[in-house]
Amino acid sequence: MNTTFLKKLGINKIHSGAFDGSWRKTKGEVLDVRSPINGKVVGRVRMATPKDYAAISKKAHETFLRWRALPAPQRGEYVRQIGNAFREHKELLAKLVTLEAGKIVQEGLGEVQECIDIADFAVGLSRQLYGLTIQSERDQHHMRETWQPLGTIGIISAFNFPVAVWAWNSMLALVCGDANIWKPSLKTPLCAIAMTNIAAKVLGKEWAPLVSCVIGPDLTVGSALLDDAKVPLISATGSTRMGRIVGPRVAQRFGRSLLELGGNNAMIIMDDADIDLAVRGIVFGAVGTAGQRCTTTRRVLVHHKIADKLQARLIKAYKSCKIGNPFDKKTLVGPLVDEGSATAFQEAIVKAKKQGGKVVQGGKRARVAPAIKGGAYVQPTIIRCPKSLPICKEETFAPILYIIPVRSLDQAIEINNDVPQGLSSSIFTNNVRSAERFASATGSDCGIANINIGTSGAEIGGAFGGEKETGGGRESGSDSWKAYMRRQTTTVNWGTSLPLAQGITFGS
Ligand code: NAD
Repeated sequence: MNTTFLKKLGINKIHSGAFDGSWRKTKGEVLDVRSPINGKVVGRVRMATPKDYAAISKKAHETFLRWRALPAPQRGEYVRQIGNAFREHKELLAKLVTLEAGKIVQEGLGEVQECIDIADFAVGLSRQLYGLTIQSERDQHHMRETWQPLGTIGIISAFNFPVAVWAWNSMLALVCGDANIWKPSLKTPLCAIAMTNIAAKVLGKEWAPLVSCVIGPDLTVGSALLDDAKVPLISATGSTRMGRIVGPRVAQRFGRSLLELGGNNAMIIMDDADIDLAVRGIVFGAVGTAGQRCTTTRRVLVHHKIADKLQARLIKAYKSCKIGNPFDKKTLVGPLVDEGSATAFQEAIVKAKKQGGKVVQGGKRARVAPAIKGGAYVQPTIIRCPKSLPICKEETFAPILYIIPVRSLDQAIEINNDVPQGLSSSIFTNNVRSAERFASATGSDCGIANINIGTSGAEIGGAFGGEKETGGGRESGSDSWKAYMRRQTTTVNWGTSLPLAQGITFGS
């Protein structure tokens, strides 16, 4: 595989794993970075140590103390230029996402576009960041609520969105007046190096430590970040297993965490649905990114009257999806990230069968061209279940879709909600009552409840995140920016006396 383009993104043969304005001379172990496409080493990173982390944190904090004083629209101007730099590097970055995360080229381009979109969104936001004015009960007084910069934000990202998750967090954090320290997944550190280089070049020497980066083991460097009292917010994206460690550990020091964890997303297909739309939505949602999105469609809850018809249509569509090298334009299904994921895929299928599920499509490792033999390729799989089985409640990060027939909308909503996770959900129906019921207080309990659209592929304008074991965090659009700021209430007395609240008299 040709990796000469890595140079254009400023990635050295053995790259440093610590950035605090410039790349430090790290002393940690060397990490081999393998491409999921064929398992071959495509880069090396000399990882950071806790000592590197301490230096990074200090520099980020010092830079924050100055950055917070800059007017927000001036901060936004830097972010506007970073967004433009992403635009200039879009194709190269997408190529890197494909190389390192195994996404097909179209999805790589889409992920970089999300970075551009959130930068644009943040620029507009930099002239808003609005607060409230509040009436005071006291004469010649008023109150106001303002939003102030918070500090250094720790960003922990998952392998499956190796550039966008950082951008969702850091572009907002920058306009909010914060610094960032990014700890990327050890499966995708090259993407982090490239993004850091691009943003740092725009920020220049004075402000580059705002986009600090630390690539190192979870147990040492990761723990140092979680325990750092100078980091008031940890935004962590990844598995529920990781969230169970991060949440309590950060809370222990009274830090805040914004958790974006696993999903187990269902699509409800009613008997009045537009089946053509539903099939397209399901295939993109279940097969896209080889089933490795937090919003991947994992369960189809279909009205029993159309279950067989829908299943037949899906099997036909699945058979036409080309599995193979994600750089090949015809490919729709690339590799899983590594062998561990392929094992989890196979184990889930064995469990599903034991519990009463029937594999009606796929179910095996996929045969691919010899040149990409070292990758973990699997067949997108459909399992017909008589009812919701225990395995249907687990998130297996692979393209397995469970089809579960239901008798009514009530039953579909009940099954939709009867899982530990609460990220995304959707309904396909032409009945406005069913649609509105689904997205009402008595409907889906997820952070996302779509109507006639699949569960994945969210736009950046809305708040993104989910409930229950998904962690409760919201990032990206709407008013998610408030997580990156501290709220301050100010009461102003413009009179000549000092009345106390609640009419209290104290002394004369
Ligand atoms: P993961 O939990 O294995 O790793 C995620 C990140 O957490 C990595 O950077 C990892 O190094 C770090 N990490 C793990 N343990 C840590 C510790 N003790 N201290 C500090 N850092 C630690 O997840 P993954 O395999 O990279 O990603 C897949 C998972 O992420 C899936 O469950 C998916 O649903 C979830 N995800 C969620 C969202 C969302 O927005 N809700 C988005 C993308 C992925």
